[in-house]
Amino acid sequence: MDTKTVSQPMLSVAQAKQLVWQGIEPLQGRELVQLNYALDRVLAEAVVSPINVPLQNNSAMDGYAVVTEECSPRTVIQLSKFHLVGTSYAGTPFYGELKPGDCIRITTGAVVPDAATSILIQENVRVEGDIVYVRPGEQCRVGEFIRLAGEDLQKDKQVFAAGRRLNSIDLGLLSSIGVTQVKVFAKPRVAVLSTGDELKQAGTVLSDGEIYESNRIVLLSMLKKAHCDVIDLGIIPDDKHKIKEAFLQGDQLADLVICSGGVSVGDADFTRDLVQQIGQIGFWKVAAKPGKPFAFGSLPNSYFFGLPGNPVSTAVTFDLLVRIGLTKLAGQSEQSPAVTFYAELESPIKKQPGRAEFQRAVAYSDEHGALKARPLGNQSSGVLSSMSQANCYLCLSAEQGDMQRSERVEVQFFNQRF
Ligand code: AMP
Ligand code: MG
Repeated sequence: MDTKTVSQPMLSVAQAKQLVWQGIEPLQGRELVQLNYALDRVLAEAVVSPINVPLQNNSAMDGYAVVTEECSPRTVIQLSKFHLVGTSYAGTPFYGELKPGDCIRITTGAVVPDAATSILIQENVRVEGDIVYVRPGEQCRVGEFIRLAGEDLQKDKQVFAAGRRLNSIDLGLLSSIGVTQVKVFAKPRVAVLSTGDELKQAGTVLSDGEIYESNRIVLLSMLKKAHCDVIDLGIIPDDKHKIKEAFLQGDQLADLVICSGGVSVGDADFTRDLVQQIGQIGFWKVAAKPGKPFAFGSLPNSYFFGLPGNPVSTAVTFDLLVRIGLTKLAGQSEQSPAVTFYAELESPIKKQPGRAEFQRAVAYSDEHGALKARPLGNQSSGVLSSMSQANCYLCLSAEQGDMQRSERVEVQFFNQRF
């Protein structure tokens, strides 16, 4: 079937995102990795805590653990002096007997004996021999400065569900419950190729009509930042057979093949027909600028994205649509939500109603703390320098037309993920 002649309704960006999320299944592969190697990996199974954290009640301060007659939670204790009978240091608990009127020296993190009712901080006492005098007028409450067993994590409760991408703090939590290794999803393997007769590799000499190719390095580096293993399939000329060969090679090596260029309806645009021939096209038109020609589908063993070749379009469609697919492929149970907010336009913008647009801008807060957005002059999808200067998209709905200075505009930060 010739997809160029098939009319397909243009999808909204939200619909396209949904179809990508639903159209991709998490990878089957699993690995057991040591915690040191688990940063940014996605948990393949839930983790339940085998212990309470903290394991025992312990002191939040350096001071004295005191025993009082009064021991109902949170009540104010009247204090005067205590008899010092021992010590509890972090790692070396106190094992003796305690009765009302006794206290022990205690350090931060040291076990609080069950009999102790509160911790007095050392700044509020004076010690003479084995008598600890409380500064006149000082009060404390039952339970004060005692960190309770299990107040961080509870034994037998779930710490993380499967599908969690582990950050550094998560690794700390796992370490705090004694975990040394975790079962994670295999990393996605992603193959990248660029198509176009005009494309030359940097480091070679350009002939008339040729340009240096830039999309592959953008895609490969973004993929590495997205924690994928990458395969570079190189620059392929606009030759049906060679592109097909590259797709099949990518399909053998990778879980996902990403091709930039040749996805439109020009004479040298073979991407869609080829995918249709050897695999399946899910959709190929999104009512977005950049991104109108954009193909999502599958090859026999892998998923496929065909991105428009203009350098800005490649980066933006990767960011807005491919990333969602990678998240799902990698086993994450939830999409990372886009963080958007409203800002005041610093200068007018041009916008034709019809397609949603993602224009490049610099967002900042002015001296009064008001959020402002400065649109970048050249919004052509061939101008990569404005993408490099920008820190956000202006998210303009399909219906939106031109906008004036000072109008309120929706902004989505790049998230420093490029
Ligand atoms: P295409 O999507 O193949 O029609 O290409 C659209 C525009 O993007 C053309 O001006 C191409 O020369 C340019 N282009 C395509 N692929 C790349 C690439 N990998 N690096 C830089 N420019 C590209
Ligand atoms: Mg081309």
